[in-house]
This record gives sequence, C-alpha cells and structure tokens, in this order.
Amino acid sequence: MAERILPGLPAAPGVATGRARVLAAAIDSGPVADRDEELARARAALAEAGAQLEALAARLRAEGRGEEAEIVETGVLMAADPALDAALEAAILTDGLAAAAALVRACAIHADAIAALGDETLALRADDVRSLGRRAAALAATGASASGGSAPPAAGAPTVLIAEDLGPADVAELSPDVVAIALAAGGPSAHAAVIARGLGIPMVVGAGAGVLSLDGDVLVDGDRGEVVAEPARQVAERRAVVARGPGRTRDGEPVRILANAAGSADVRVALTAGAEGVGLLRTELAFLDAPAWPDEAAHRAALEPVLHALAGRTATVRVLDFGGDKTPPFLRGTDARGIALLRSAPAALAAQLRAIEAAGAGTDLRVLLPLVHGAEDVDAVRALAPRVTIGAMLETADAIGAADEIAAAADFLSIGTNDLTADVLGADRFAPGATATHDPRMVRAIVRAGEAAAAHGRVLEVCGEAASDPRMIPLLIGAGVTELSVGAARVGETWERVAAVDSRDAARLVRAAANAPDAAAVERLLGQAGHAGGERLDGPGRIVPAGRQP
Ligand code: PEP
Ligand code: MG
Repeated sequence: MAERILPGLPAAPGVATGRARVLAAAIDSGPVADRDEELARARAALAEAGAQLEALAARLRAEGRGEEAEIVETGVLMAADPALDAALEAAILTDGLAAAAALVRACAIHADAIAALGDETLALRADDVRSLGRRAAALAATGASASGGSAPPAAGAPTVLIAEDLGPADVAELSPDVVAIALAAGGPSAHAAVIARGLGIPMVVGAGAGVLSLDGDVLVDGDRGEVVAEPARQVAERRAVVARGPGRTRDGEPVRILANAAGSADVRVALTAGAEGVGLLRTELAFLDAPAWPDEAAHRAALEPVLHALAGRTATVRVLDFGGDKTPPFLRGTDARGIALLRSAPAALAAQLRAIEAAGAGTDLRVLLPLVHGAEDVDAVRALAPRVTIGAMLETADAIGAADEIAAAADFLSIGTNDLTADVLGADRFAPGATATHDPRMVRAIVRAGEAAAAHGRVLEVCGEAASDPRMIPLLIGAGVTELSVGAARVGETWERVAAVDSRDAARLVRAAANAPDAAAVERLLGQAGHAGGERLDGPGRIVPAGRQP
C-alpha cells in the first residue's frame, strides 16, 4: 500500500512508528428488556469507572506524578456528581437507551453544559467528563475499560494507539508498548495531550475519521501534526529515531546503556530511546513526604507499574536512599544515610525487599544498596533476601578504599559518582556550577573500583551523572566499566559517545589521566584523544563531529 499522509494538529512532540491499534467505541448489545436493571448496570459501570480512576490517581501519586494524579482525580469527583446521575436516569428510564449509550449521552450532556460556561479551564473538564463516559460505557458494554482494564496490558511490539478521542486517564495508564497516539478528534490543549507531553509520547489530534480505519505500520509526527499510513522506510528513518542495538564501543566491546528512573514515565522514555533496562531506580523519591517507613503494600503500589514496564529487562531497584537532602519528615534529625539508615530499621528494609522481589518477578531483577561502607552492609541484606542479585554502590572515598572486600561480598558494583565526586574532591554536590569529575583523584578512585571488580569477576556500573558526561565516558570504559546508567533523556547521546570510543585507546588514556597533575591536564589528554578519534569535545555534554567544527 502506498504512503498516505493524514494531517492533524501537533499535540505532543516527537516522532515514532508502530503497528496501528484502533480502539473501538463501546457498543451495546440488543434492546433493553428491563429499564430499572439497565439503570443499575449503568450506575455500577460508572461507579467502577470512578474506582478505576481513583486507583490510578493513587498509583500516579505514589510514582511522584502529582499533577497527572490531580487531573485524573477530577474524573473521580465527576463520577459521583448527582447531576450526571440524573441525566443517566433520564436517558435510560425515560428514553429507553441501553447502558453504554446512556452513559455516553449523559456525560456528553453534562460536558456540553460545562463547555457552554465559556471558561477555558472548565472546557478541559468537559473533555474529562466525556472520557469518563467512554470508560464507563466500555465497562457497561464489555466489562473492560476503554484502554483495556486498570492493569496495563503486557508489553509487545511498538504500537500506535488510534482512537476517536482519549481521556487523560487513558493516556496515563497506557501500556509500555504504545509509542505514539493518533486521535480522530481531540484538541492539543486537552488534559490527555498534557499527559502525553509529560510522558514523552508523540501525539497528533484532530486527524479526522480516516485514522480509525488504519492498519499496518503508522508513523505519528507529533512535531508536524501528521499521521503517515504505511510510511516509506526512508520517511520513517528520516523522521523517527532509528532503533538502536545494544551499546558497543567502536572496536566492538559491549557497554550496556541503562537508564536512571524514578517512575514509569522515565522508563517509557528510556526504552523508546533504546535503553536496555534500568540501572538505577530511585525508590525513595516517591516517599519523600511519607509520615512513616512505607510498608510492603505501599512499596508494591509504587513498584508494580515501573517493573511491569520492565518485563524481561534489567531492573535495578535501589532500596530507599533516605538521609541528607532526601530526608522525609519522620526521619528529621537523623545523621545516618543510605543502607546504614535502613539497617537501623530492619523491618522496613525487609518489607521493601519483599515488595521488590514480588513486583520484580518478571524482570532481570537486581537490588542496589546505596552508600555501602563495607561487606557487612551487603551480608546483612543477603541474609534477608538470599536469592536476589545484590549490587553495592561505591559513593565515598572509604568505600573505594574497601572496594576489594565489598566486591567479594556483592554480585556487582555501581559507582555513584555524584556523591563520590563530592566526597573525593571535598566539593558541595548541590552548589551551583559544574564539578570537575574528570579530576585525577576521581580517575584514580574509579580505576581502583575497576580493579576490585575485575579481581572478583564483578560487573562494574556507573549510575551518577558522570555516566553521561562525554569527557568521562572514555575514562570509565578504560577503567573497566561495562554498564552506564544515565538520565532517560541522555540515552541516545550516551550510546553514540560509547560507539565513538576505542576501548584500547581508552585503557591507555585512563592510565595517563590517573597520573595527570590536575583536571585541566586530564582535559588536554581527552582533547588529544578526541581528535585522534575524528571528533572533539565541545564543552560538557556535546560532541561535534570532525568537519563541522565552528
Ligand atoms: C550518585 O550519588 O551518584 C547516585 C547515583 O545516587 P544519588 O544521585 O541518588 O545520590
Ligand atoms: Mg548517591
């Protein structure tokens, strides 16, 4: 079939290609036999839709997605609105409509009344009422929600979700295989678009009824506002991010590119960009306002959506790294941090470990311990979770000094360069301005960690900011680091930087850098090595290919 462009409006930026999956509108089966029974069925569906939205809002809050939770909560309130119930009653008892049709009609009447008030904010609410109607109608007609049920379906091939319209909750609970959205109707300022933008999912709205009959491959260009049916391969490649294979250096040494994440939105962005999994899940961020240690159920509620999105992939879950700037109210006044603080609350540690093991059952699960001081930290956790792969974070000069015994006890090592740089260089991690991580003292610390990992046959990961710093990447690879865990938005450029490094050159470079007198000398070494590799560094975070230098 030839390529066809269906113009619409850009609603969330980015470009992605996937197989079309068209969501059908709910259809009632057969005539209404008993109107009272039908009304009871419609009311039950509306209540169930409200309950689904409430559960979704709670999950979003636990993931630290408060703004999205608030949007979804609007639907919860509306589901209980007596005016909506009155419209539903009239549609069924007076007009004889079946439950699904009555729900759609009652919500549409209610939405039109809100929209007629002429207030922009309320107009967005009107969209949310219509989406509540679609969700409840789908429940009444089939017993499943408009987007397939409250638990996200299993991940599969990249999919473009196509529908007449979608509500904010439908977008917030999309399964991880959805890479883009195309809507026949809808507006770019609707709450659904706000959420798609937050999740980094390209979205086109108002593309007309033609999108509802698409099948096969579809490209969504959220920058131009176009839906392309059966895109020619060249078009897809020109517009979309080309899928990346596993990370490798120029001479073919594998370096896994993983992502740092705090919730499922990060995971979605990272996987779309080609990350192989998650190398650091910061679990404490969902609990910074917690009134007490989170229990097993709270951990599971926070972990399940994230680990679901990582089915079959590496999921490295760090146990709570409370303390310092991440101290919830109930821990104020304590000096302890990281695993030492958690070990002082063994029941809380055990509860989180149980939740991690249960929620991560479908993943290549690893547990990461923050601010490890010695082998006893690893041994204590292993006693509680003997079947789990345990990684130790090296984040202090003392831990680097004890790297050998820690490597002997742990299954893998991960360098937290954010804290380590501050400790080794005596710098304030939170002071404005960049810290020169490419300092010879840091290079020596990383080399020490590399030697300890090699001596015990352990994988060495880096999950601090240095993992995506183009100056540091050759030094890390030269020191024996084989996993880089980076911010979700940095996955692509990290992959490219790794692909430009020759591991043998990197090994020579790191030896020279470890003996350099200061950071400026390391920078000069890196500059020379960069030129030799056909590129040069252009300040932190940018690589300028040779021939395009200003
Ligand atoms: C680090 O210190 O490098 C790290 C990854 O942990 P966090 O930034 O969460 O302290
Ligand atoms: Mg840290």
